[in-house]
Amino acid sequence: EIGQNTIRLGQKLIAFRQRPSHVEVDFVNPTTGKINTERGKILIGADGIHSTVRRLLFPNEGPTLWDGIAVWRGVTPVKNLYLDGRTIIFMGNPNDRELIIFPVDESNLNWALAIRKEKAGIRPTPIISDWDNLGRKEDVLPLVSDLKLSFIDTEDLVRSSTIINEFLMTDRDPLPQWSHDRVTLIGDAAHPMYPNGGNGASQAIIDSRGLVLAFREFGVTPKGLQQYDELRRPTSTIFVKMARQAGPEKLLKFVDERSREPFGNLSDIASPEELEEVVADYKRAINWSAEKLNHEPPLF
Ligand SMILES: Cc1cc2nc3c(=O)[nH]c(=O)nc-3n(C[C@H](O)[C@H](O)[C@H](O)COP(=O)(O)OP(=O)(O)OC[C@H]3O[C@@H](n4cnc5c(N)ncnc54)[C@H](O)[C@@H]3O)c2cc1C
Repeated sequence: EIGQNTIRLGQKLIAFRQRPSHVEVDFVNPTTGKINTERGKILIGADGIHSTVRRLLFPNEGPTLWDGIAVWRGVTPVKNLYLDGRTIIFMGNPNDRELIIFPVDESNLNWALAIRKEKAGIRPTPIISDWDNLGRKEDVLPLVSDLKLSFIDTEDLVRSSTIINEFLMTDRDPLPQWSHDRVTLIGDAAHPMYPNGGNGASQAIIDSRGLVLAFREFGVTPKGLQQYDELRRPTSTIFVKMARQAGPEKLLKFVDERSREPFGNLSDIASPEELEEVVADYKRAINWSAEKLNHEPPLF
């Protein structure tokens, strides 16, 4: 059991100081402005892509990075799910326009439309853009009107969406180090990445597994944090870089580039082996294998 007093809500971290035997952390209550200081053996910064802990560790890093892609996303209630009710749709080319649709439960579809707004090239994000900025249906409708499917009306999907968010797809360069003595980073604070491939939150969960493994071996100590850094940072660096190349969705790029004319069958433009190779290339880069995963021992 975590215990009543372990989680304190409404506390914004603003500063920390490392001492030989502990860390002191200052929090402000954004409503009252009251500042209080806590002490702990270690500090794990899990404060997302705009992490304060990361900024305090790397004060010269600057804003998030952007490659010219904007995203709209929404959730649309539906009476019936499409096809078998468990199919994810990827349409288009992640390099310039891609629509993704998938069910989130029995009666709601999640959709996301990624559009190239400016030419490719990684640069500092021009505006502050977060995933909960509100977007407008009028802006999205013309962008999906020619994306036709026999079993989903894509315009209706956008029109009936309960809420639409609009934001820039951003990340940060991989860091040379996460753990600094008694302080470390986890999740998006450590490795924000493009959502291509749906890896961000999954990697955050695997980070916590890495932390537990390291703590078991070295205790809740700076050495444990160092071990966690060595275990997790190299892999997550590969994920950040692969996401910049569209992750597993580069299969769409491959098909789009091969098919300048309309085609009836996927086999008209690529053999199953060629398609498999595009995906296998991604799996190799991230060192993924179903067999390896299924044979990892449980932690608990
Ligand atoms: C459109 C989109 C689609 C995605 N799809 C997927 C997907 O399919 N699969 C997947 O695995 N991932 C996906 N992701 C990525 C996923 O959402 C993130 O990787 C994940 O939320 C990161 O979790 P986190 O806990 O590290 O950070 P966050 O979820 O960002 O949480 C950070 C928390 O820290 C708090 N905080 C910030 N600053 C402070 C402070 N100074 N003091 C105290 N608290 C603070 C914030 O309020 C927030 O609650 C997607 C992301 C986007 C934008």
